[in-house]
Amino acid sequence: MHRARKRFGQNFLQDGGVIYSIVALINPASSMHIIEIGPGLGALTIPLLENLDQLDLLEIDRDLVAFWNQQNLPGLKVIEGDALQFDFLSWAKNRPANSGLCKVVGNLPYNISSPLLFHLVDAANEIDEQVFMLQAEVVERIVAKAGSSDFSRLSVMLQARYHMEQVLEVPPEAFDPQPKVNSAVVRMIPRTDFNLSSAQWASLEKIVAAAFSQRRKMLRTNLSTYAQRLSLTESELKARAQDISVDRYIEWAKALIA
Ligand code: SAM
Repeated sequence: MHRARKRFGQNFLQDGGVIYSIVALINPASSMHIIEIGPGLGALTIPLLENLDQLDLLEIDRDLVAFWNQQNLPGLKVIEGDALQFDFLSWAKNRPANSGLCKVVGNLPYNISSPLLFHLVDAANEIDEQVFMLQAEVVERIVAKAGSSDFSRLSVMLQARYHMEQVLEVPPEAFDPQPKVNSAVVRMIPRTDFNLSSAQWASLEKIVAAAFSQRRKMLRTNLSTYAQRLSLTESELKARAQDISVDRYIEWAKALIA
């Protein structure tokens, strides 16, 4: 019997209806190339595998890795490792010939969700879709629109790279043990119109971090070092970071290193 480990964010899904809905959203089909981050005891793994020729699992907990290796299920490949260190780009590139859509899915450990979402950006060129359960508050932040108080550095960076929608809300009772917070499922599809070079992406990171460094302050203050080079308008100088659209941040990131 496995005892849930807090340090690995182990809250296991147990609500059949929620499990069914998430698997339906992932929509597994035989030839897809899918990796599940954190299979735990298999709430999603087993129903996913029923519809796939092959499923890759990435799990940090050695006991759970041993558990999955003992199952010896056909089509299952178990990788022991830390998702924050894992090379998703190579994984995505090394898909079998004739494989279908490439997806990264999982009910993520909430303690690492933001750094993990940033880490996955490096592989976005090769990935068709990500479906993740996250803390509801994080999902609200990443899908928030400019002008809303939830609009943050995370919203700008992820919206610059993905189309995202919140697709399901999940209460604590759906898990065992129950987390203290509400959860939500987000679908993330890499934008096909994304055209930033890595230098431009780094520039976007820099300018967005500066803009949001003091949320209540005007951009006149937060972007004082860049204001002239970016020719900020008078109304932009008086605006706060949360009022600027993702497209405008992208324009600034490009202008900064042009
Ligand atoms: N998928 C299962 C479910 O829905 O019941 C378990 C979800 S549980 C919220 C998170 C899972 O991620 C656990 O299995 C945990 O051991 C694993 N995990 C935690 N940190 C990880 C990391 N850095 N890399 C890979 N897996 C991790």
